[in-house]
Amino acid sequence: MDQKFEHPVRTIALMNQKGGVGKTTTAVNLAASIARQGRKVLLVDLDPQAHATLHVGVDEDDDPTVYDLLLEPEQGISGCIRHIDDNLDLIPAETDLAAVETELSSAADRNNRLAKALSMRDTDHEFVLFDCPPALGLLTLNALASASEVLIPMQAHFLALQGVSKLLETVGLVRQQVNPQLRVAGVVLCMHEQQTTHSREVVADLERFFESGRETGSAWASARVYRPPVRRNIKLAECPSFGQTIFQYEPSAPGAQDYEALGASIVAEWDRALASIKASELSEAEINVLRGNPQTAPMQSD
Ligand code: ADP
Ligand code: MG
Repeated sequence: MDQKFEHPVRTIALMNQKGGVGKTTTAVNLAASIARQGRKVLLVDLDPQAHATLHVGVDEDDDPTVYDLLLEPEQGISGCIRHIDDNLDLIPAETDLAAVETELSSAADRNNRLAKALSMRDTDHEFVLFDCPPALGLLTLNALASASEVLIPMQAHFLALQGVSKLLETVGLVRQQVNPQLRVAGVVLCMHEQQTTHSREVVADLERFFESGRETGSAWASARVYRPPVRRNIKLAECPSFGQTIFQYEPSAPGAQDYEALGASIVAEWDRALASIKASELSEAEINVLRGNPQTAPMQSD
């Protein structure tokens, strides 16, 4: 057992090509929730709007950001990291990040630069969360090439369902062509209104769809609708303007309770996966994902 094997990493991309669905709110508060459980978390802001960066109270300055990392991935990630809170670190975004799309357009490895930087494993984070921009460009592709899982924040609306099928198709293509270990972990319901018949129907539709994909070998064969849903809660909308997570801003708010429970569920699921590695129940390819080497399947001897 080598050192990397002893330190597996769960790498999750928060992705939805639609804006305003709760990606950033979930990336920030889920990261904070996992950190509060004593697990080391790295949040990576890949959106040129830098909303996650601002949400955790980091203003634009001259220090390195994810933009510098994409230009020079060989430097590794440790020099770009800001410490936010106990167990919680950030690689910030900056507005210049929008330019990276054109600056790297002729680079053959343009979609694999983040994966390269992360593969150096120069930090000891156990969870890495990517906040993706609302588009399927170079930045999101870098996240999908680096991640082992995709988590889809969405609202339980009929039209949002159609967007999700498009998104699953995209993840399927990336899995085929770039990152064979990539899988859809599932959906996080955001701004949820549990009491409406419409939202209950949409959730039931989603669950039926995921059930029908079991045993298919598709990217979403193990996807599920995570519980609890995150209720609509004005405190979650207020806290970014104070540069605080919900746990810092209003720890007793319903939004804090929901993200706390969601974080606990994500950590428990991970601990079960780790326990089954120990019991050697995972395939070599799955172990490579946990080692943070999604590109290296089957396992190389190192
Ligand atoms: P995205 O990153 O997908 O664009 P955001 O996380 O920025 O979406 O959310 C869009 C808007 O909705 C933001 O103003 C955010 O504060 C608000 N919001 C997100 N989740 C909730 C929630 N559960 N309750 C109330 N407002 C929310
Ligand atoms: Mg966002």
